[in-house]
Order: sequence, then C-alpha cells, then structure tokens
Amino acid sequence: MIFAPFFVPFYFISDTIPSMQGATQPSSMIRMSTICINGCDIVVEEKNIKNMHLSVYPPEGRIHISVPAQTNQDKIRLYILQKWPWIVEKRNNLTRYTRQSARQYVSGEEHFWRGKSYRLKVVPDKKSQVIVNGDYIELYVRDGATLKNKAHVLESWYKADLNRVLHDLVDKWQAKLHVQLDTWQIEKMAARWGSCCKNKRKALFNLELAKKPYHCVEYVVAHELAHLVEENHNDKFQNILFANLPNWQSIRKELNEFTI
Ligand SMILES: [Zn+2]
Repeated sequence: MIFAPFFVPFYFISDTIPSMQGATQPSSMIRMSTICINGCDIVVEEKNIKNMHLSVYPPEGRIHISVPAQTNQDKIRLYILQKWPWIVEKRNNLTRYTRQSARQYVSGEEHFWRGKSYRLKVVPDKKSQVIVNGDYIELYVRDGATLKNKAHVLESWYKADLNRVLHDLVDKWQAKLHVQLDTWQIEKMAARWGSCCKNKRKALFNLELAKKPYHCVEYVVAHELAHLVEENHNDKFQNILFANLPNWQSIRKELNEFTI
C-alpha cells in the first residue's frame, strides 16, 4: 500500500501502481508514468480529475502526483518545481522516521512500541530480554554488548510481539472477508507497510508496524487481505474497506502522518 516501486520484488502486486498488474484498472485511473526531478523519481498518475494533487508518503518520502488526463509534461514539471520547497519540508519531517530507526540503543533514548513513546533503559544482564516497565522499555543485554547486539535483541522482541498481534488480526480478517492466505510473514521493508500477492496468497508486513498503534496495524491487515478479493485500489476494493472498516481513510491518514 505504501511503497516505492523500485523496492518491490517482481512477483508482488505493486500496490499503488495498478497499471503494472496488467488486466483490470481502476475506473478513474488512466495512465501511470514516472518522471525524474532533482534526482527523485516521481510517480505520475493520470486520472479523470480537474486539478493536480501532490503527495509525499512515508516512510521514505515517496512523491506521487495525480494529474488530469493528458496534462502536458512541462506543466507537471513546473507544478512540481513550484512545490519543491513544500516537498523538501515534508520529506524532512518524514526523515524523523528514518532517524528513529538509526537509534544508538543507549539509556534514555526514545523508542516506540504499539503507538506509544518509551524511554530505553539498558540493563547489563547475562540473559538477553526485553521487558516493558511503565514508561520504560528495559533492554537486558550482556555487559559490553555492541549496538548491533542490542538492536538485534530489541528487533527480535518487536518481531515476536508483532507476530502475536498479526496472528489474531489475520485470523479475524480472513473470517471477516472470507479469504484465506497461504502464508504471511514479517519483514524489514524500506518503503511499504505491507504487500499482498493474490496469486501466491502471500502477505508481507513491515516490522516497523510493531511501533504503530493497534488500529493502524489492523488497517494494514484489512487492506492487504482485501487484495485477495480485489487486486487494484478501485471502487470495489474501497467498498470492501468501507463495509468492514468504515473509518479506514482516517486510519490511513494517521498511519501516513505517524512519523516515528
Ligand atoms: Zn494496496
């Protein structure tokens, strides 16, 4: 759902580029293309709309523009260049997210879990483990543990926690949407919260979701599993979400703005 196309493994449904999926396309979408401005690849989506609309998406600051059908390339370029200061500002805000993932794993540092902010407390111990204690995430690691060791312990804990959350949510949404995945897994993904391949009945979820509020994780599960019914982000797809998660748009907005 949120991704940069160049990160997408070939066999996966490219979530917001329906034209790459061949066959059917959403009724409102006419053509997709990419233009490069100031070294950034920008996805241009031609639609039956009146005005151009520019968006910058986390986590990597992917730039997307919707334009009226057959808008002249120069006009699109000019519009984007005029908005460039806004794009830079928006992208700078988003890099807070990237900085967050480059933590030093020292006591007092801010870390997120399930949508809340915690302080890290590094505790020397023979046994590696993570315990949430009040406003603290206590990270037990052997004395002299490297940054890599500490990151690994915390990441494993995030993964186990997210695995439990996703397990329940996948069960819930498979029943709700009358669909069945063959397999799903958690991965570190640079630029998407999740993906789903209808043919392989396989979903991937971003490890970073462990840091997000529960309802945001639920939206990603609902979204990816809805792709088992409908591959494209068309009216049919949106209606599935509206029927089962009426406030999905506001949750999506929250997820996109939730920069940690
Ligand atoms: Zn999607």
